Amino acid sequence: MARYKDEQCRICRREGQKLFLKGSRCYTDKCSITRRNYAPGQHGQKKKKLSEYGTQLREKQKTKAYYGVGEKQFRRYFEMAESKKGITGEILLQLLESRLDNVVYRLGYGSSRAQARILVTHGHFEVNGQKVDIPSYLVKPGDEIKVREIRKDSKIIKENVEVNGSRPVPAWLEKDEANLGGKVVRLAAREDVDIPVEEHLIVELYSK
Ligand code: SF4
Repeated sequence: MARYKDEQCRICRREGQKLFLKGSRCYTDKCSITRRNYAPGQHGQKKKKLSEYGTQLREKQKTKAYYGVGEKQFRRYFEMAESKKGITGEILLQLLESRLDNVVYRLGYGSSRAQARILVTHGHFEVNGQKVDIPSYLVKPGDEIKVREIRKDSKIIKENVEVNGSRPVPAWLEKDEANLGGKVVRLAAREDVDIPVEEHLIVELYSK
């Protein structure tokens, strides 16, 4: 996936919503949505009426941006969700929430999902005592996630613990800050997922 290093705010502005892609900046008045809540580009301030397809597409693009997932991988998650019993849209969100980079972010050890992804890739975390450096690794109930012993003095981890300490942790996870870790209590249910997305629109888009 093309990574939007300095373009995250443009994605939020395109979607007209805060997607919290930049960590602590998103909670300050430096947030671009706070200052310029209209789409980027020359005609960004003109309100466009979206077609049904356009609305579904925007919902998918927003969700991909939120979790930092590329098209192919997103499609794979959709196919996995479709093959499972239950409500496809909800299972899709559950799979996205179960990604290790998302879990690290949710536990507050990453200031954004993008930063959490980098930390995972650089080998900062272990799952059940084993180093895991794959951001898309899917956690399951009972899994224990921890900062690896050799990374415990990492400046960035310490900063994140300090800055994100008060950020609420979803009920499906249990944080163990004293040991720089956390546990997956259960899989995320729809009510645990606080993202402003109408997942049924994504299902409709892929079902065409
Ligand atoms: Fe930028 Fe974060 Fe605001 Fe989005 S929420 S516009 S990423 S600062």
